Amino acid sequence: MASVIDPVCGMQLDDQQTAITSQYMNRTYYFCSLGCKQQFDNDPQRYAAQPAPGSADREPQPREDERS
Ligand SMILES: [Zn+2]
Repeated sequence: MASVIDPVCGMQLDDQQTAITSQYMNRTYYFCSLGCKQQFDNDPQRYAAQPAPGSADREPQPREDERS
């Protein structure tokens, strides 16, 4: 199990328990609700421009120091 981020609303999700997904640019995005998925599907570039779900953690916060 891994934590993923809903790119639309920023909610943290568990990829094993999130049935609502969308594929874009060979990447799977996870959503907390169909509403978020629909927003993403309407304008995927807007949301996909953000850091990949799961690779960069959570909300935009100044925590550059914990990177490896
Ligand atoms: Zn959401």
